[in-house]
Amino acid sequence: MPLPVAHSLMGYAIAKTTKVRLARKNWLNVLIFATLANLPDIDFLPGFLVGEPNRYHHFLVHSISFALCIGLIGGMIFWQRNRNSANPHLGYGNAGGPGFWPYFLTISLAVFSHCILDLLTEDSAPPYGMVLFWPFDMGYYDTDWHFFTAVDKSNVSATFFTSLLTWYNFKVALREFLIMLPVIGLVKIISRLKGPFGWRRILGRHSAADIKKTQVATLGLLKVSSLPPWLSGRRSLATVLTENREEAQHE
Ligand SMILES: [Zn+2]
Repeated sequence: MPLPVAHSLMGYAIAKTTKVRLARKNWLNVLIFATLANLPDIDFLPGFLVGEPNRYHHFLVHSISFALCIGLIGGMIFWQRNRNSANPHLGYGNAGGPGFWPYFLTISLAVFSHCILDLLTEDSAPPYGMVLFWPFDMGYYDTDWHFFTAVDKSNVSATFFTSLLTWYNFKVALREFLIMLPVIGLVKIISRLKGPFGWRRILGRHSAADIKKTQVATLGLLKVSSLPPWLSGRRSLATVLTENREEAQHE
């Protein structure tokens, strides 16, 4: 497993690439994406409680099915929240905000990014790899492309956290940081691309036209046209000029 450094930076990269937001505040949005990208390592917890942290590691939750399950739950929650929201979340909501699919895909991707990085990491102890296709296939899958170095950790709960605090693991973390740095740079460039090849569209970025539509829909609710001209205060210059001309003609 890489340390949370690589997974969290991947979460950050996804948060910065998509307009699908999971929280109003930027830091909280990034934090949620980083948590999702680290989520499969929750399988250390049951092993930790029985005194053997690695016991259930790389099992069940390190799979495509788990990523899709979290995407499904998250998609339902955020979609329903947008639908029920009287005060649309950051310009989203009833007026053309993301529906179920952008949330489902983005959250699934954030969780599955964990498996991708783990597949690119050296595995120091058997079983090598993870049950990627659980529950359809219980085989352990791994790749030979190990960009990230294995973390040196204890398999005894009492010494697990202290075993991580070594100079060797610091270098592992530094390597993760340096590998992820160009990835983040690349993602920032791609996220600025517009048109059909830009991730903005693929992952739910809304075009300027969509936002305009939302603004028009909101303005429509004010029923400006039903107000008397002196109350609406929204007459265009052309309207004022026409009215002045008409008044001048009457005189
Ligand atoms: Zn993992």
